[in-house]
Amino acid sequence: MDHKRRKLLQYSIGVASLPIIGAVGPSLAQQGLSAPGGYDLLVTGARVIDPSQNLDSIMDIGIRNGRIVDIQKDLPRDKAAQQINASGKIITPGLVDLHAHTYPQGSAIGLPADELAPFTATTTYVSAGDAGGNNFSAFKHFIQAQARSRMFAFVHISSIGLAGYPIGEMKNIDYANIDLAARVVNENPDIVLGVKVRETLDVVGENGIEPLRRARMAAERSGVKGARVMCHIGNAPGDLGALLDLLRPGDILTHAYSGAGNNTVQNGKLILAALEAKKRGVIIDVGHGGGSFDFTIAEPAIQQGLIPDTISSDIHAFSGNSPSVPYLPNVMSKFLTLGFSLNEVIAMTTNRPGVIINRDPLLGTLKKNAAADISILDLVEKPVEWLDTRGNKRPGMYSLVPVQTIRAGRPFGRPYVSPFGY
Ligand SMILES: [Zn+2]
Repeated sequence: MDHKRRKLLQYSIGVASLPIIGAVGPSLAQQGLSAPGGYDLLVTGARVIDPSQNLDSIMDIGIRNGRIVDIQKDLPRDKAAQQINASGKIITPGLVDLHAHTYPQGSAIGLPADELAPFTATTTYVSAGDAGGNNFSAFKHFIQAQARSRMFAFVHISSIGLAGYPIGEMKNIDYANIDLAARVVNENPDIVLGVKVRETLDVVGENGIEPLRRARMAAERSGVKGARVMCHIGNAPGDLGALLDLLRPGDILTHAYSGAGNNTVQNGKLILAALEAKKRGVIIDVGHGGGSFDFTIAEPAIQQGLIPDTISSDIHAFSGNSPSVPYLPNVMSKFLTLGFSLNEVIAMTTNRPGVIINRDPLLGTLKKNAAADISILDLVEKPVEWLDTRGNKRPGMYSLVPVQTIRAGRPFGRPYVSPFGY
């Protein structure tokens, strides 16, 4: 292609400095469509890390019809309608955030998922109890169906979800309608993973662990095999051990490293019930949030065996504006600082939550035929100070910084191809 044509078809990528360049005939390229047998989008030259296939090397990724069709070195450039040169960057499967709040019009703390892409590089969000039985349908029709981000949900055991925040949604136990939550799980197996409950004194008032009991009953009564409970802790009522004993294998303990009180580590020791929960297959989730991640809990907990299964952000209107800024790449970076490898933190934000969501065997991977959900990140090597939610600081050397997020082959924030297919 001559220099003049290249100039015409090139458009700049805004916040990121990665040019997109069209390479096939102008009419096809202008639509973002490839010639037969070619690629709609080709991402070249990045270090591709995909723990689901033990991949860590410089590769190109060829995308057609929203799916990954080729992943190998030196794919042909001239067959691509659009190219992103990602040399020097890291590519991971689109990040999967198991605990987020993405119901902006219905939950008092929710954020619009798609707008978060420049900060989170996340392509899949799980709305963690934003909706309860009474307002789940609006989440499904008006939020999930219209988002470019892929979205799943836990339905709250409280029928009002988080609409009443900051008033505790479980102060009145009558909101914990077991049959209603069970029905939402049963009727929406494509997107609802189970039942959310928040076990914090401020939230449950006099009701102790009854909300958790009801959440568990709802998951069981739903009749959906594998329906999970996601239980939030942080200044939980009563004996934390008794609470943890109620979690079944496959249930999710979120805010596992909270320092808000009644913590998983007490007097320097990981409580036995937390270790036993981990051993029987309860999923240990980070859920950083605005008040739920404490280095002085995480360090001894991890050292004594409470290793996280998943790293999630608990991003919401309040946490996102808090000093510890829990965008998912920041939370991943904090786990690099805690000594986890880059491959481990990527596994905990891609294929592991993908397997837990269990709705698509190709979620959280870059295998051929997977939806082309891709995160492009910069691994910046320079001294940085990471803050937890309780004012503790830790020095780090690496920061993961979002560069570009691609959902089903369409880069976020770019002019749409015509017709816009997703
Ligand atoms: Zn949350």
